Amino acid sequence: MSAQLAHDTGTVTEGRWRPRFGDAMMRTLATPKLMLARGEGCRVWDVDGNEYLDFLAGIAVNSLGHAHPVLVEAVSSQVSTLAHVSNYFSTPPQLELAERLRTITGAGEQGRILFGNSGAEANEAAFKLARLNKGPHGKRTRVLALNNAFHGRTMGSLALTGKPPMREAFEPLPGGVEHIDSTIHALEAAIDDRVAALFVEPIKGEAGVLDLPDGFLQRARELTEQHGALLIIDEIQTGIGRTGRWFAYQHADILPDAITVAKGIAGGVPIGALITFGRASELFTQGQHGSTFGGNPLATAAGNAVIGEIERADLIGNARRRGEELRALLRSYDSPLIGDVRGAGLLIGVGLTDGEAHRLSDAALTEGLIINAPNESSIRLAPPLIVGDAELAEFREKFGRALAAL
Ligand SMILES: *Cc1c(COP(=O)(O)O)cnc(C)c1O
Repeated sequence: MSAQLAHDTGTVTEGRWRPRFGDAMMRTLATPKLMLARGEGCRVWDVDGNEYLDFLAGIAVNSLGHAHPVLVEAVSSQVSTLAHVSNYFSTPPQLELAERLRTITGAGEQGRILFGNSGAEANEAAFKLARLNKGPHGKRTRVLALNNAFHGRTMGSLALTGKPPMREAFEPLPGGVEHIDSTIHALEAAIDDRVAALFVEPIKGEAGVLDLPDGFLQRARELTEQHGALLIIDEIQTGIGRTGRWFAYQHADILPDAITVAKGIAGGVPIGALITFGRASELFTQGQHGSTFGGNPLATAAGNAVIGEIERADLIGNARRRGEELRALLRSYDSPLIGDVRGAGLLIGVGLTDGEAHRLSDAALTEGLIINAPNESSIRLAPPLIVGDAELAEFREKFGRALAAL
């Protein structure tokens, strides 16, 4: 087995897998820095056996870390019982996850869930929901979204994404979407009775973990309600405990009309969902949307296991406490490189005073620490929600050495 592995992958130092990657994989992907073989808790190992502390968690996906026994047991037993059945049938884990999501979102008995397989798909469904909010005489044709927000790479979700460099090669995109600045003033100026929906990423993860201005979500709630527009919040990166509440909108004490979730909900098993609240739950009618894999028993069993463990082990409380500790730790480095510290809970952005984020994340990797540079001036941290004292102490050492190495 190990001889086979060595033959297939090459070692990291030899990097024999790199040219193979360059040949076989679509050019959308840059050649990765490592080839990883396994993980456990907050750690992963590469094919040469080198160990890394994982403070990215597959971009806020591995909520329970790697190979968590609760997730392993749930997925193993579900796959050996019933993995998939199509939407001609329901299954116990599917309905259980839908009902759990109704509860933890606060959508309650008027909440409805549409399952898919990824974040982009969840936003596609949300975009279709927005189109259904036509209003009297079909006057609601505008959709508002925020500059610099990320909503995914499919045509619809890309139309919502406020990053022109990602969009330009693929135009024309689905129409009607207008991007505005993330300020209360810009929102007040843009909104009117022709707006079907406002899409909001409550903390802009891909843009470097950028917070919204204070009061933005509350004002967005008031204005959308006043104009009959749906408030749709993209909780794909921020949801499922990551920010120290189940969902980021709960910090603002509002209820939206819909949210989208994906990433952290099933701990690494692909899943996405659109969740509607109140009257927005009445918009879709039979036959208007669907997905072969969406809501299958394997993915939903994984979702139930993750949510159950987050509740059992109070990982939301842990996200809040460890987030505070990590923020304090980041501010304690005596380095001119560290600027502002952003985000909430265990979704943390560090602004760098120098455009050195990629060099810093490379230096961290050399120290055995995985962090992420979403752009040249930001570092993103999103460790598993199970992170504890030992991991924070190790992070302090390794990140400190990486800073010193620049
Ligand atoms: C990752 C992400 C998406 C896209 O999710 P995929 O599963 O990659 O399609 C959409 N919105 C936000 C906020 C994200 O972080």
